[in-house]
Amino acid sequence: MKHKFLVVLLALLSAFCVAFGLSACGEKSDETGNNPPVTDPSGGEQGNQGEGGTQKPDEGEQGGTQKPDEGEQGGTQEPDDGEQGETPAPHVHSFGEWKVTKESTCKETGTKERSCTCGEKETEILPLAGHDFENMTCKICGIQASLGLEYTLINGDKEYAVSDLGDCTDTDLIITNNYEGKPVTAIGDRAFDECKELTSVTIGSGVTSIGRRAFYECSRMTSINIPDSVTSIGDYAFAGCRGLTSITIPDSVTSIGRGAFSRCSGMTSIIIPDSVTSIGDRAFEYCRGLTSITIPDSVTSIGSEAFSGCSGLTSINIPDSVTEIGDYAFSVCIGLTSVTIPDSVTEIGDYAFEWCNRLTSITIPDSVTSIGEGAFYRCDALKEIHFENPIGWKVARNEDMSDAKAVSGLDDAATAAEYLTKTYCGYYWEREG
Ligand SMILES: [Zn+2]
Ligand SMILES: [Zn+2]
Repeated sequence: MKHKFLVVLLALLSAFCVAFGLSACGEKSDETGNNPPVTDPSGGEQGNQGEGGTQKPDEGEQGGTQKPDEGEQGGTQEPDDGEQGETPAPHVHSFGEWKVTKESTCKETGTKERSCTCGEKETEILPLAGHDFENMTCKICGIQASLGLEYTLINGDKEYAVSDLGDCTDTDLIITNNYEGKPVTAIGDRAFDECKELTSVTIGSGVTSIGRRAFYECSRMTSINIPDSVTSIGDYAFAGCRGLTSITIPDSVTSIGRGAFSRCSGMTSIIIPDSVTSIGDRAFEYCRGLTSITIPDSVTSIGSEAFSGCSGLTSINIPDSVTEIGDYAFSVCIGLTSVTIPDSVTEIGDYAFEWCNRLTSITIPDSVTSIGEGAFYRCDALKEIHFENPIGWKVARNEDMSDAKAVSGLDDAATAAEYLTKTYCGYYWEREG
């Protein structure tokens, strides 16, 4: 039915063209210049056009869509022009704010919803909420909080931090969010460091900070939740938690402290939320089990040794928000076979990629004006370094570049690799920005 109609329409149109001498009707792709010849190979045989001559056969009937049948429309660049403009522009949803339609509890997930002016709705599931304790018993599910822990008053004695394991003998720790009528808002520094018997920890909702070395070397712990009230994770908070295989960092967290997850060698994946703007020094060093990591484009700097020794990583995608790659940031990532340095990066730190001995090729974008000493030391497989801007580079032994000399020939990728990995490997490299 459709096709018959189309054929009739085309026949009428061609008759119209002939009658009024519109000779350009079928060949204006030559004139407009914006119609690649490939779109109109069948310009002469209009009878077939509806079937085979265009990529999107349906559009022949509607006129005015993005890929019009060039042959019939008389050469307008904007297909909506003229008498065929009855097709409305495609609607792009514009969603409002999310609204919680059902609060989650410790037993049931909740939902949130947002809607477009057109009536289209999107729904997402909210994760389980933490327990809500009263007298150490959850009001909703009845679970008991661990007893015997030590608490310390903080913030003008208005809140508590859980500060030590105390007399508690639980191996599956459940931390209350309410102690003696006051909210528990922090896990104190070293609260559970080297508690080797702990196997799981449930942190109550309402905790906003996890202190320095809070769970340091809890090597048997296989599971822990970080509630979405937490904004900061302290230095070495989870360092040496080798039993953790994955951890979800909620999008309330803005800073990941120095060494926060260092030596979490059992961890195979981690998702860094896009609330995080900086990845601290040593944050993920020696997380040998990590095979992939997603760095969100909120991150602007990758700290020193941040991923050093992550030997399981095979590729890494640095987002184009990052301007600085710290010293030793990816050193000894011996599994790394590909890395993309985005053109936002201006500085590559000292020894940033040393011992990445499976890298074979890398591109230094135009934005990079400084490369630290030894950045590609012992990258023995690296035989091609493509400088997007090979001109104006200087190398120096002294960091202040006082003994700088010019280096040329970097337009050749093999030469550039030889220079950066061997000849001038231990030099500081700079280019006038
Ligand atoms: Zn809409
Ligand atoms: Zn509960």
